[in-house]
Amino acid sequence: MKIEHIGIAVKELCISVPLFEQLLNTPCYKTEVVAAEGVSTAFFHTGESKIELLEATSESSPIAKFIAKKGEGIHHIAFEVENIEAEMERLSALGFELLNAVPKKGADNKLVCFLHPKSTNGVLIELCQEKK
Ligand code: ZN
Repeated sequence: MKIEHIGIAVKELCISVPLFEQLLNTPCYKTEVVAAEGVSTAFFHTGESKIELLEATSESSPIAKFIAKKGEGIHHIAFEVENIEAEMERLSALGFELLNAVPKKGADNKLVCFLHPKSTNGVLIELCQEKK
């Protein structure tokens, strides 16, 4: 498993996208709204991995709640897996708390599952598998 991407919660993509374009010296290659998650996302390539910026699309978005509580910053770390269902089963058997029981559709053509931060030292972990 490699780190597929790091998710960063931001207040406004229109400010943070140009900022990260300057920082990483690479253009944002994709923006996508994931309505079901209440987020608008923007992606950047950084070598083998990516940076995903996340902006809330509504007050009830998990990103809005995150920013209200902790401010902008690193929101989650996403690991790439070959077989998300097998990995979910393995981690669940080990006592990790899955936030969704079945893989759900994420941004960037992925199937995803999140692990509750309380079972992972306060870090929200995302498993993601490329949709075939
Ligand atoms: Zn993510």
